[in-house]
Amino acid sequence: MSNIIAEIRSILQEHTNMIKNAIPLIASENITSPAVAEACNSDFSHRYAEGWVGQRVYAGCKYIDQIEQMCMDLTKEYFNCVHADVRPVSGVMANLVLYNALTSENNGRMCAMPIPKGGHISHAPKQTSSGKPIYGTAGTVRGLNIKYLAFDEENMNIDADNSADIIREFKPEMILFGASVFLFPHPVKELSDVAKEVGAYVGYDAAHVAGLIGSGYFQDPLREGADAVAFSTHKTLPGPQHGAVISNREDLIDTLKVSAFPALFSNHHLHNVAGFAVALAEMLEFGKDYHKRIIENAQALGQALYERGFNVLCEHLGFTKSHQLVIDISNFEKSIGLGGDIEKILEEANIIINRNLLPQDIRKGRHYMNPGGLRIGTSEITRLGMGKSEMIKIAEFFEKLIVDKKDPKKIKQEVSDFKKEYQTVKYCFQPSNKAYEYLKFY
Ligand SMILES: *Cc1c(COP(=O)(O)O)cnc(C)c1O
Repeated sequence: MSNIIAEIRSILQEHTNMIKNAIPLIASENITSPAVAEACNSDFSHRYAEGWVGQRVYAGCKYIDQIEQMCMDLTKEYFNCVHADVRPVSGVMANLVLYNALTSENNGRMCAMPIPKGGHISHAPKQTSSGKPIYGTAGTVRGLNIKYLAFDEENMNIDADNSADIIREFKPEMILFGASVFLFPHPVKELSDVAKEVGAYVGYDAAHVAGLIGSGYFQDPLREGADAVAFSTHKTLPGPQHGAVISNREDLIDTLKVSAFPALFSNHHLHNVAGFAVALAEMLEFGKDYHKRIIENAQALGQALYERGFNVLCEHLGFTKSHQLVIDISNFEKSIGLGGDIEKILEEANIIINRNLLPQDIRKGRHYMNPGGLRIGTSEITRLGMGKSEMIKIAEFFEKLIVDKKDPKKIKQEVSDFKKEYQTVKYCFQPSNKAYEYLKFY
């Protein structure tokens, strides 16, 4: 068995080397600081503490309680809210807390975004309108019926006017804003008024944009009408993989709490609560600079790619107001292929992005395995200290690979040379003893 352990170790090391030499552009990813990693590796990872602070099911929780309380307080400070539950173990779990609290079980009704237009599988019904099973979380776990909000493809956003009609007719119990493709703030304010008319709650899934919101960019859903917000802690917020729920509705706190525990999980990954607390402290200190730079980098990368022949969506709106860009790659269909093919070529050169369905892909009969789009995020490269000039370098790599069809193996070497200078996590308190390299396992 020891050879298996050696093998696991060596594969992990190879993965680390790959990431060290890569340009990481997956919009849902980020990296944690050494201080977050240390908290996540602590003894908390071995312990159980079901329940709320001060009301645990287990003994031995004295210090766990202190840290979880700090984590809740830091969350409330960062998001300026009265309730924070830092126990959901992921963003999907946090969404389920909202479904449990704000909709009825079996045949409850929710309006949300469809997947080809940026919605997430956790917002989706159990089957499509044609009856094809897709096992979306909202339908499969909560039995929700979903009616999709209207979408404006030109502006890559929810169409508020047409969605208002849909909401008035469908009378959902909850409207869920937020998405996985999320370039511009959603019309929460406008549609919250319509939600009130029909007695619907307003939920907001900030999985992608939680960091941008906490640092005061993008939009402020709790003050625009959202009753509760669910999010992942590891996308624009650079914490460990975990989830959280926040709200400003005092009257909903008890319901939101029991909708998490005991409804959804027993223990809640205490090491990640500790790591999340550290990440929040970092963002309260450095988030204003960090998140501003993420958005500037996304806009600069959008411009640089656009100038090199890439159809980055929404040029008329400055490409994005978040950490993301979406590229319609179909002008390269004849010369190279679609999203899946291009994802592979970029990966061969160690540029890691993901293919992405575009709204028109369904009409064109394209499959998610090889769709017409790419999605790019700047959270991680920004955390490694990259700025506008590096965005131009990255766009040049795209040009060499996709436009000029240079050999990915050759570009891979150039990518790795370029990456050498970006091996330290920024926007965090730097350990004073020695310069840290990120992802140091051994
Ligand atoms: C990533 C994402 C989630 C899921 O988050 P996990 O933490 O992976 O469970 C939920 N909603 C949206 C919109 C997302 O993009």
